Amino acid sequence: MNFNTNKRLLTYDEKMRRAIFYYTFNDYDFNLIYEDENNLSDNYGQPLIKIKENFDRLDDETKALVLEFANREIYDETIDLKCLNCDYEELNQDYEEIEEMWDGIDYPKLYCPKCGKGKFVPLDIWKQKNKYKR
Ligand SMILES: [Zn+2]
Repeated sequence: MNFNTNKRLLTYDEKMRRAIFYYTFNDYDFNLIYEDENNLSDNYGQPLIKIKENFDRLDDETKALVLEFANREIYDETIDLKCLNCDYEELNQDYEEIEEMWDGIDYPKLYCPKCGKGKFVPLDIWKQKNKYKR
């Protein structure tokens, strides 16, 4: 059976934010400055940090790594999932993480966070199996 993933090209700012976040992740002395302390990430789970204020405080080596990342073409791949048992759904889940848990047969079948059954599948598969259901 076939299912689709959603591919989205990241913007330059998104790549800058992501790179600064990851390259400073293990540096406990580096305090990231966020746009808004009450809202740390956007709808895609991207860290909403200030770009210039953080970038300017990096050492030269890290600056170069961040810029190298930001100049690449980077896609985010996500997938929508829905439960065949209870119809619970979650949209825009990181596909790389899902792929790691998948045995590669047919399509990913994960445990549903709501009912706990191993019937949490790609939305396309849910639709194919529920053709007559609305
Ligand atoms: Zn369920």
